[in-house]
Amino acid sequence: MSSLLITNGYLVTLDENDRFIENGSIYIDGNQIIDVGNFAPDTYRVDRTIDAGGSLVMPGLINAHHHLYSTFARGFTPPGPPARNFEENLKNLWWKLDNALDADDVYYSALLAIMNAARAGCTTIIDHHASPSCSDGSLDQVERAFKDVGLSGCLCYEVSDRNRPGEGIDENARYIRKCRDANDPQMTAMFGLHALMTLGTRTLDRCADIGNSLDAGFHVHAAEDEIDVSTTMERYGRRIMDRFLDFAIPGPKTIFVHGVHFGPRELDLLRSTDSLLVNAPESNMNNGLSVAPILDMLKHGVTVGVGTDGMSSHLISQARAMYLHQRTYRRDPTVAFSESCDILLKNNREICNRLFREPRGMLATGYLADIIIPDYVPFTPLNAETFYGHLLYGLSYARIRTTVARGQVIVENGLLPHMDENAIRAECVEKASRLWKRIH
Ligand SMILES: [Zn+2]
Repeated sequence: MSSLLITNGYLVTLDENDRFIENGSIYIDGNQIIDVGNFAPDTYRVDRTIDAGGSLVMPGLINAHHHLYSTFARGFTPPGPPARNFEENLKNLWWKLDNALDADDVYYSALLAIMNAARAGCTTIIDHHASPSCSDGSLDQVERAFKDVGLSGCLCYEVSDRNRPGEGIDENARYIRKCRDANDPQMTAMFGLHALMTLGTRTLDRCADIGNSLDAGFHVHAAEDEIDVSTTMERYGRRIMDRFLDFAIPGPKTIFVHGVHFGPRELDLLRSTDSLLVNAPESNMNNGLSVAPILDMLKHGVTVGVGTDGMSSHLISQARAMYLHQRTYRRDPTVAFSESCDILLKNNREICNRLFREPRGMLATGYLADIIIPDYVPFTPLNAETFYGHLLYGLSYARIRTTVARGQVIVENGLLPHMDENAIRAECVEKASRLWKRIH
Protein backbone atom coordinates (compact mmCIF):
# COMPACT_ATOMS: atom_id res chain seq x y z
CA MET A 1 0.00 0.00 0.00
CA SER A 2 1.44 3.36 -0.99
CA SER A 3 0.63 6.92 0.00
CA LEU A 4 -0.03 9.84 -2.30
CA LEU A 5 -0.37 13.58 -1.86
CA ILE A 6 -2.14 15.88 -4.33
CA THR A 7 -1.24 19.55 -3.79
CA ASN A 8 -2.13 22.93 -5.27
CA GLY A 9 -5.60 21.90 -6.46
CA TYR A 10 -8.85 23.81 -6.75
CA LEU A 11 -10.81 21.14 -4.88
CA VAL A 12 -14.45 20.55 -5.75
CA THR A 13 -15.16 18.18 -2.89
CA LEU A 14 -18.88 17.47 -3.50
CA ASP A 15 -18.87 16.69 0.24
CA GLU A 16 -21.75 17.21 2.66
CA ASN A 17 -20.94 20.93 2.98
CA ASP A 18 -20.26 21.26 -0.76
CA ARG A 19 -16.85 22.77 -0.01
CA PHE A 20 -14.68 24.40 -2.67
CA ILE A 21 -11.07 24.64 -1.47
CA GLU A 22 -8.58 26.84 -3.30
CA ASN A 23 -4.95 25.73 -3.17
CA GLY A 24 -6.07 22.55 -1.40
CA SER A 25 -4.37 19.23 -0.79
CA ILE A 26 -5.54 15.64 -0.50
CA TYR A 27 -3.66 12.97 1.43
CA ILE A 28 -4.30 9.37 0.36
CA ASP A 29 -3.11 6.23 2.09
CA GLY A 30 -3.71 2.92 0.32
CA ASN A 31 -7.04 3.28 -1.47
CA GLN A 32 -8.61 5.74 0.97
CA ILE A 33 -8.71 9.51 1.29
CA ILE A 34 -7.36 10.39 4.74
CA ASP A 35 -7.28 14.20 4.73
CA VAL A 36 -8.66 17.01 2.55
CA GLY A 37 -7.99 20.71 3.12
CA ASN A 38 -5.42 23.49 3.27
CA PHE A 39 -2.85 21.62 5.35
CA ALA A 40 0.88 22.22 4.76
CA PRO A 41 2.38 19.87 2.13
CA ASP A 42 4.93 18.55 4.64
CA THR A 43 2.23 17.46 7.13
CA TYR A 44 2.47 13.90 5.83
CA ARG A 45 5.40 11.80 4.65
CA VAL A 46 4.32 10.26 1.36
CA ASP A 47 5.63 8.00 -1.38
CA ARG A 48 4.57 10.37 -4.11
CA THR A 49 3.32 13.95 -4.60
CA ILE A 50 1.33 15.26 -7.57
CA ASP A 51 1.18 19.03 -8.08
CA ALA A 52 -2.22 19.83 -9.61
CA GLY A 53 -0.87 23.19 -10.83
CA GLY A 54 -3.99 25.12 -9.77
CA SER A 55 -6.29 22.87 -11.78
CA LEU A 56 -9.70 21.81 -10.62
CA VAL A 57 -9.62 18.48 -8.73
CA MET A 58 -12.79 16.46 -8.22
CA PRO A 59 -14.07 12.95 -7.46
CA GLY A 60 -13.86 10.36 -10.25
CA LEU A 61 -17.01 10.05 -12.35
CA ILE A 62 -19.39 7.09 -12.21
CA ASN A 63 -21.02 5.42 -15.22
CA ALA A 64 -24.37 3.97 -14.08
CA HIS A 65 -25.05 1.94 -17.26
CA HIS A 66 -22.58 0.78 -19.88
CA HIS A 67 -22.12 -2.06 -22.37
CA LEU A 68 -18.36 -2.51 -22.57
CA TYR A 69 -18.81 -5.25 -25.19
CA SER A 70 -20.05 -2.60 -27.66
CA THR A 71 -16.47 -1.33 -28.22
CA PHE A 72 -15.93 -3.22 -31.46
CA ALA A 73 -19.10 -1.74 -32.97
CA ARG A 74 -17.18 1.48 -33.64
CA GLY A 75 -17.35 2.06 -37.41
CA PHE A 76 -19.12 -1.21 -38.09
CA THR A 77 -21.94 -1.35 -40.64
CA PRO A 78 -24.12 -4.42 -40.20
CA PRO A 79 -25.05 -6.45 -43.28
CA GLY A 80 -28.43 -5.84 -44.92
CA PRO A 81 -30.55 -2.73 -45.21
CA PRO A 82 -30.32 -0.05 -42.50
CA ALA A 83 -32.44 -0.66 -39.38
CA ARG A 84 -35.77 1.16 -39.62
CA ASN A 85 -36.65 0.94 -35.95
CA PHE A 86 -35.47 -0.07 -32.48
CA GLU A 87 -36.27 -3.77 -32.89
CA GLU A 88 -34.42 -4.00 -36.21
CA ASN A 89 -31.44 -2.24 -34.66
CA LEU A 90 -31.29 -4.89 -31.92
CA LYS A 91 -31.71 -7.75 -34.38
CA ASN A 92 -29.48 -6.47 -37.21
CA LEU A 93 -26.65 -4.98 -35.17
CA TRP A 94 -26.44 -5.67 -31.45
CA TRP A 95 -27.62 -9.27 -31.33
CA LYS A 96 -25.40 -10.20 -34.28
CA LEU A 97 -22.42 -8.46 -32.75
CA ASP A 98 -22.75 -9.88 -29.22
CA ASN A 99 -23.41 -13.37 -30.64
CA ALA A 100 -20.13 -13.26 -32.57
CA LEU A 101 -17.96 -12.30 -29.55
CA ASP A 102 -15.52 -14.89 -28.24
CA ALA A 103 -13.87 -14.83 -24.82
CA ASP A 104 -10.84 -12.91 -26.11
CA ASP A 105 -13.07 -10.29 -27.75
CA VAL A 106 -14.92 -9.88 -24.46
CA TYR A 107 -11.66 -9.21 -22.63
CA TYR A 108 -10.18 -6.80 -25.20
CA SER A 109 -13.38 -4.86 -25.86
CA ALA A 110 -13.80 -4.36 -22.11
CA LEU A 111 -10.12 -3.48 -21.67
CA LEU A 112 -10.15 -0.75 -24.30
CA ALA A 113 -13.45 0.74 -23.10
CA ILE A 114 -12.25 0.79 -19.47
CA MET A 115 -9.00 2.48 -20.55
CA ASN A 116 -11.03 5.10 -22.45
CA ALA A 117 -13.25 5.56 -19.40
CA ALA A 118 -10.20 6.20 -17.19
CA ARG A 119 -8.94 8.73 -19.73
CA ALA A 120 -12.35 10.46 -19.62
CA GLY A 121 -12.26 10.72 -15.82
CA CYS A 122 -14.49 7.78 -14.97
CA THR A 123 -13.41 5.52 -12.10
CA THR A 124 -16.45 3.24 -11.56
CA ILE A 125 -18.56 1.48 -14.20
CA ILE A 126 -21.82 -0.43 -13.79
CA ASP A 127 -21.79 -2.73 -16.81
CA HIS A 128 -24.42 -4.85 -18.54
CA HIS A 129 -22.78 -7.65 -20.52
CA ALA A 130 -23.90 -10.03 -23.30
CA SER A 131 -21.89 -12.58 -25.28
CA PRO A 132 -24.20 -15.57 -25.92
CA SER A 133 -21.59 -17.73 -27.70
CA CYS A 134 -19.32 -17.66 -24.66
CA SER A 135 -21.60 -16.70 -21.77
CA ASP A 136 -20.11 -19.09 -19.20
CA GLY A 137 -17.14 -17.38 -17.59
CA SER A 138 -17.56 -14.21 -19.69
CA LEU A 139 -17.86 -11.99 -16.60
CA ASP A 140 -14.43 -13.25 -15.50
CA GLN A 141 -13.03 -11.81 -18.74
CA VAL A 142 -14.66 -8.44 -18.02
CA GLU A 143 -13.39 -8.59 -14.43
CA ARG A 144 -9.85 -9.32 -15.68
CA ALA A 145 -10.01 -6.13 -17.77
CA PHE A 146 -11.09 -4.08 -14.72
CA LYS A 147 -8.24 -5.57 -12.68
CA ASP A 148 -5.69 -4.83 -15.41
CA VAL A 149 -6.72 -1.17 -15.70
CA GLY A 150 -7.56 -0.58 -12.03
CA LEU A 151 -11.13 0.83 -12.05
CA SER A 152 -14.05 -0.48 -9.98
CA GLY A 153 -16.77 -2.52 -11.70
CA CYS A 154 -20.27 -3.78 -11.05
CA LEU A 155 -21.01 -6.59 -13.52
CA CYS A 156 -24.00 -8.60 -14.67
CA TYR A 157 -24.97 -10.80 -17.60
CA GLU A 158 -28.11 -9.94 -19.59
CA VAL A 159 -30.46 -12.94 -19.45
CA SER A 160 -32.89 -13.28 -22.35
CA ASP A 161 -34.72 -16.02 -24.24
CA ARG A 162 -33.66 -14.71 -27.63
CA ASN A 163 -31.09 -17.49 -28.28
CA ARG A 164 -31.88 -20.25 -25.82
CA PRO A 165 -34.29 -20.02 -22.89
CA GLY A 166 -32.71 -18.73 -19.71
CA GLU A 167 -29.27 -18.19 -21.29
CA GLY A 168 -27.11 -16.33 -18.78
CA ILE A 169 -28.93 -17.28 -15.57
CA ASP A 170 -26.10 -19.54 -14.41
CA GLU A 171 -23.44 -16.96 -15.27
CA ASN A 172 -25.17 -14.30 -13.15
CA ALA A 173 -25.57 -16.65 -10.20
CA ARG A 174 -21.99 -17.93 -10.49
CA TYR A 175 -20.48 -14.47 -10.68
CA ILE A 176 -22.57 -13.02 -7.84
CA ARG A 177 -21.42 -15.90 -5.62
CA LYS A 178 -17.84 -15.51 -6.80
CA CYS A 179 -17.85 -11.82 -5.79
CA ARG A 180 -19.30 -12.68 -2.39
CA ASP A 181 -16.66 -15.37 -1.80
CA ALA A 182 -13.78 -13.22 -3.07
CA ASN A 183 -14.85 -10.37 -0.78
CA ASP A 184 -12.93 -7.97 -3.05
CA PRO A 185 -14.43 -4.47 -2.85
CA GLN A 186 -13.15 -3.54 -6.33
CA MET A 187 -15.74 -5.77 -8.03
CA THR A 188 -19.41 -6.32 -7.30
CA ALA A 189 -22.30 -7.97 -9.15
CA MET A 190 -25.98 -7.65 -9.96
CA PHE A 191 -28.44 -10.00 -11.65
CA GLY A 192 -28.77 -8.87 -15.28
CA LEU A 193 -31.88 -9.15 -17.46
CA HIS A 194 -32.31 -7.85 -21.00
CA ALA A 195 -35.91 -6.54 -21.02
CA LEU A 196 -39.43 -7.90 -20.60
CA MET A 197 -39.86 -8.13 -24.39
CA THR A 198 -37.24 -10.93 -24.56
CA LEU A 199 -38.04 -12.74 -21.28
CA GLY A 200 -40.76 -15.39 -21.04
CA THR A 201 -42.59 -16.22 -17.84
CA ARG A 202 -40.60 -19.36 -17.04
CA THR A 203 -37.25 -17.59 -17.38
CA LEU A 204 -38.40 -14.56 -15.42
CA ASP A 205 -39.64 -16.84 -12.66
CA ARG A 206 -36.26 -18.56 -12.41
CA CYS A 207 -34.40 -15.25 -12.50
CA ALA A 208 -36.63 -13.81 -9.78
CA ASP A 209 -36.15 -16.88 -7.58
CA ILE A 210 -32.38 -16.97 -7.90
CA GLY A 211 -31.83 -13.20 -8.08
CA ASN A 212 -33.98 -12.46 -5.03
CA SER A 213 -32.37 -15.23 -3.00
CA LEU A 214 -28.94 -13.75 -3.81
CA ASP A 215 -30.19 -10.22 -3.00
CA ALA A 216 -27.83 -8.53 -5.45
CA GLY A 217 -30.44 -6.31 -7.16
CA PHE A 218 -31.47 -6.58 -10.81
CA HIS A 219 -30.17 -4.52 -13.76
CA VAL A 220 -32.69 -4.44 -16.61
CA HIS A 221 -33.80 -2.31 -19.57
CA ALA A 222 -37.38 -1.09 -19.17
CA ALA A 223 -39.73 0.83 -21.46
CA GLU A 224 -36.85 1.90 -23.70
CA ASP A 225 -39.05 1.74 -26.79
CA GLU A 226 -42.82 1.49 -27.24
CA ILE A 227 -42.36 -2.14 -28.39
CA ASP A 228 -41.34 -3.21 -24.85
CA VAL A 229 -44.57 -1.69 -23.51
CA SER A 230 -46.88 -3.08 -26.21
CA THR A 231 -45.31 -6.58 -26.22
CA THR A 232 -45.72 -6.87 -22.46
CA MET A 233 -49.33 -5.72 -22.67
CA GLU A 234 -50.19 -8.02 -25.59
CA ARG A 235 -48.56 -11.12 -24.11
CA TYR A 236 -49.38 -10.72 -20.45
CA GLY A 237 -52.03 -7.99 -20.19
CA ARG A 238 -49.72 -6.12 -17.79
CA ARG A 239 -48.00 -2.77 -17.76
CA ILE A 240 -44.22 -2.98 -17.41
CA MET A 241 -43.81 -2.09 -13.74
CA ASP A 242 -46.81 -4.27 -12.78
CA ARG A 243 -45.18 -7.25 -14.45
CA PHE A 244 -41.86 -6.54 -12.75
CA LEU A 245 -43.71 -6.31 -9.43
CA ASP A 246 -45.33 -9.71 -10.11
CA PHE A 247 -41.79 -11.13 -9.90
CA ALA A 248 -40.53 -8.92 -7.05
CA ILE A 249 -37.88 -7.38 -9.32
CA PRO A 250 -38.13 -3.73 -8.06
CA GLY A 251 -36.21 -2.70 -4.94
CA PRO A 252 -33.49 -0.37 -3.61
CA LYS A 253 -30.68 -2.23 -5.42
CA THR A 254 -32.49 -2.67 -8.74
CA ILE A 255 -31.64 -0.48 -11.75
CA PHE A 256 -34.25 0.04 -14.45
CA VAL A 257 -32.61 1.51 -17.55
CA HIS A 258 -34.24 4.16 -19.79
CA GLY A 259 -37.92 4.37 -18.67
CA VAL A 260 -38.68 6.44 -21.77
CA HIS A 261 -42.33 5.32 -21.76
CA PHE A 262 -42.93 5.40 -18.02
CA GLY A 263 -46.04 7.32 -16.96
CA PRO A 264 -47.04 8.68 -13.53
CA ARG A 265 -48.15 5.25 -12.25
CA GLU A 266 -44.77 3.66 -13.11
CA LEU A 267 -42.93 6.58 -11.53
CA ASP A 268 -44.96 6.19 -8.33
CA LEU A 269 -44.07 2.49 -8.26
CA LEU A 270 -40.38 3.27 -8.78
CA ARG A 271 -40.57 5.68 -5.87
CA SER A 272 -42.58 3.45 -3.54
CA THR A 273 -40.19 0.52 -4.13
CA ASP A 274 -37.15 2.85 -3.85
CA SER A 275 -35.89 1.47 -7.18
CA LEU A 276 -33.26 3.19 -9.31
CA LEU A 277 -33.77 4.56 -12.83
CA VAL A 278 -30.85 5.21 -15.16
CA ASN A 279 -31.27 7.05 -18.44
CA ALA A 280 -28.85 7.36 -21.37
CA PRO A 281 -29.94 10.35 -23.46
CA GLU A 282 -27.43 10.00 -26.32
CA SER A 283 -28.48 6.40 -26.79
CA ASN A 284 -32.17 7.35 -26.83
CA MET A 285 -31.41 10.06 -29.41
CA ASN A 286 -29.32 7.68 -31.50
CA ASN A 287 -32.18 5.17 -31.64
CA GLY A 288 -34.65 7.90 -32.60
CA LEU A 289 -36.74 7.19 -29.50
CA SER A 290 -39.08 9.43 -27.56
CA VAL A 291 -37.67 11.65 -24.78
CA ALA A 292 -37.61 10.20 -21.27
CA PRO A 293 -39.66 12.22 -18.73
CA ILE A 294 -36.59 12.93 -16.58
CA LEU A 295 -38.03 15.99 -14.82
CA ASP A 296 -41.27 14.15 -14.00
CA MET A 297 -39.19 11.28 -12.62
CA LEU A 298 -37.37 13.68 -10.31
CA LYS A 299 -40.65 15.33 -9.26
CA HIS A 300 -41.97 11.90 -8.31
CA GLY A 301 -38.94 11.44 -6.06
CA VAL A 302 -37.28 8.77 -8.21
CA THR A 303 -33.49 8.40 -7.92
CA VAL A 304 -32.45 9.03 -11.55
CA GLY A 305 -28.90 8.33 -12.74
CA VAL A 306 -27.15 8.61 -16.09
CA GLY A 307 -25.07 6.18 -18.13
CA THR A 308 -23.52 5.95 -21.56
CA ASP A 309 -25.25 2.73 -22.70
CA GLY A 310 -22.31 1.69 -24.87
CA MET A 311 -22.32 4.92 -26.89
CA SER A 312 -18.97 6.07 -25.46
CA SER A 313 -17.15 6.11 -22.15
CA HIS A 314 -17.47 9.90 -21.72
CA LEU A 315 -19.86 10.92 -18.96
CA ILE A 316 -19.94 14.71 -18.76
CA SER A 317 -21.18 14.73 -22.36
CA GLN A 318 -24.14 12.61 -21.21
CA ALA A 319 -25.16 15.23 -18.64
CA ARG A 320 -24.88 17.84 -21.41
CA ALA A 321 -26.96 15.72 -23.76
CA MET A 322 -29.55 15.20 -21.05
CA TYR A 323 -30.20 18.86 -20.36
CA LEU A 324 -30.09 19.89 -24.02
CA HIS A 325 -32.46 17.03 -24.88
CA GLN A 326 -34.93 18.07 -22.16
CA ARG A 327 -34.82 21.73 -23.18
CA THR A 328 -35.44 20.90 -26.82
CA TYR A 329 -38.26 18.53 -25.92
CA ARG A 330 -39.97 21.04 -23.64
CA ARG A 331 -39.02 24.08 -25.72
CA ASP A 332 -38.06 25.68 -22.43
CA PRO A 333 -34.59 27.24 -21.94
CA THR A 334 -35.00 27.37 -18.15
CA VAL A 335 -35.09 23.66 -17.29
CA ALA A 336 -32.88 20.67 -16.58
CA PHE A 337 -29.47 22.35 -16.20
CA SER A 338 -28.80 21.78 -12.50
CA GLU A 339 -30.90 18.60 -12.54
CA SER A 340 -28.69 16.92 -15.15
CA CYS A 341 -25.54 17.85 -13.19
CA ASP A 342 -27.06 16.59 -9.93
CA ILE A 343 -27.98 13.35 -11.69
CA LEU A 344 -24.40 12.86 -12.88
CA LEU A 345 -22.60 13.82 -9.69
CA LYS A 346 -24.99 13.08 -6.81
CA ASN A 347 -27.47 10.48 -8.01
CA ASN A 348 -24.88 8.26 -9.72
CA ARG A 349 -22.97 8.37 -6.41
CA GLU A 350 -26.12 7.35 -4.52
CA ILE A 351 -26.66 4.44 -6.94
CA CYS A 352 -23.07 3.24 -6.53
CA ASN A 353 -23.12 3.54 -2.80
CA ARG A 354 -26.06 1.10 -2.71
CA LEU A 355 -24.09 -1.44 -4.74
CA PHE A 356 -20.47 -1.12 -3.57
CA ARG A 357 -19.42 -1.25 0.04
CA GLU A 358 -16.66 1.40 -0.20
CA PRO A 359 -18.22 4.89 -0.23
CA ARG A 360 -17.17 6.99 -3.23
CA GLY A 361 -18.01 10.22 -5.06
CA MET A 362 -16.71 12.80 -2.55
CA LEU A 363 -13.33 14.25 -1.67
CA ALA A 364 -13.78 13.46 2.02
CA THR A 365 -12.03 11.48 4.76
CA GLY A 366 -12.84 7.77 4.60
CA TYR A 367 -13.97 7.88 0.97
CA LEU A 368 -12.45 5.78 -1.79
CA ALA A 369 -9.49 7.58 -3.40
CA ASP A 370 -11.09 7.98 -6.84
CA ILE A 371 -9.93 11.42 -7.96
CA ILE A 372 -9.51 13.20 -11.28
CA ILE A 373 -7.46 16.21 -12.31
CA PRO A 374 -8.60 17.66 -15.64
CA ASP A 375 -6.43 20.13 -17.56
CA TYR A 376 -8.67 22.90 -16.32
CA VAL A 377 -7.57 26.00 -14.46
CA PRO A 378 -10.76 28.10 -14.07
CA PHE A 379 -10.62 31.55 -15.70
CA THR A 380 -13.91 32.75 -14.18
CA PRO A 381 -14.90 32.45 -10.48
CA LEU A 382 -15.41 28.86 -9.33
CA ASN A 383 -17.80 28.24 -6.45
CA ALA A 384 -21.04 26.43 -5.63
CA GLU A 385 -23.08 28.81 -7.83
CA THR A 386 -20.83 28.58 -10.88
CA PHE A 387 -19.50 25.02 -10.80
CA TYR A 388 -22.16 23.44 -13.00
CA GLY A 389 -21.43 26.00 -15.71
CA HIS A 390 -17.75 25.02 -15.54
CA LEU A 391 -18.76 21.34 -15.64
CA LEU A 392 -20.97 21.46 -18.74
CA TYR A 393 -19.21 24.16 -20.76
CA GLY A 394 -15.57 23.71 -19.72
CA LEU A 395 -14.85 20.35 -18.15
CA SER A 396 -16.85 18.51 -20.79
CA TYR A 397 -14.18 19.52 -23.31
CA ALA A 398 -11.13 19.26 -21.03
CA ARG A 399 -8.59 16.48 -21.30
CA ILE A 400 -8.21 14.54 -18.06
CA ARG A 401 -4.58 14.89 -17.09
CA THR A 402 -4.59 12.57 -14.05
CA THR A 403 -6.96 9.83 -12.93
CA VAL A 404 -6.43 8.22 -9.55
CA ALA A 405 -8.53 5.10 -9.03
CA ARG A 406 -8.53 3.18 -5.77
CA GLY A 407 -5.47 5.21 -4.68
CA GLN A 408 -3.44 4.24 -7.76
CA VAL A 409 -2.40 6.70 -10.46
CA ILE A 410 -4.00 5.19 -13.57
CA VAL A 411 -3.79 8.11 -16.01
CA GLU A 412 -0.79 10.46 -16.13
CA ASN A 413 -0.59 13.26 -18.68
CA GLY A 414 -3.56 11.72 -20.45
CA LEU A 415 -1.81 8.34 -20.88
CA LEU A 416 -1.98 5.01 -19.04
CA PRO A 417 1.70 4.30 -18.34
CA HIS A 418 1.05 0.88 -16.77
CA MET A 419 -0.62 -0.38 -19.96
CA ASP A 420 1.00 -1.02 -23.35
CA GLU A 421 -1.58 1.12 -25.12
CA ASN A 422 -0.26 0.76 -28.66
CA ALA A 423 -0.04 -3.03 -28.42
CA ILE A 424 -3.56 -3.22 -26.96
CA ARG A 425 -4.98 -1.00 -29.69
CA ALA A 426 -3.27 -3.07 -32.39
CA GLU A 427 -4.69 -6.25 -30.86
CA CYS A 428 -8.16 -4.67 -30.80
CA VAL A 429 -8.00 -3.67 -34.48
CA GLU A 430 -7.16 -7.26 -35.39
CA LYS A 431 -9.86 -8.74 -33.15
CA ALA A 432 -12.50 -6.29 -34.38
CA SER A 433 -11.76 -7.00 -38.05
CA ARG A 434 -12.03 -10.76 -37.44
CA LEU A 435 -15.28 -10.21 -35.52
CA TRP A 436 -16.75 -8.10 -38.33
CA LYS A 437 -15.88 -10.81 -40.88
CA ARG A 438 -17.68 -13.42 -38.77
CA ILE A 439 -20.82 -11.28 -38.87
CA HIS A 440 -20.74 -10.55 -42.61
ZN1 LIG B 1 -28.33 -0.65 -22.24
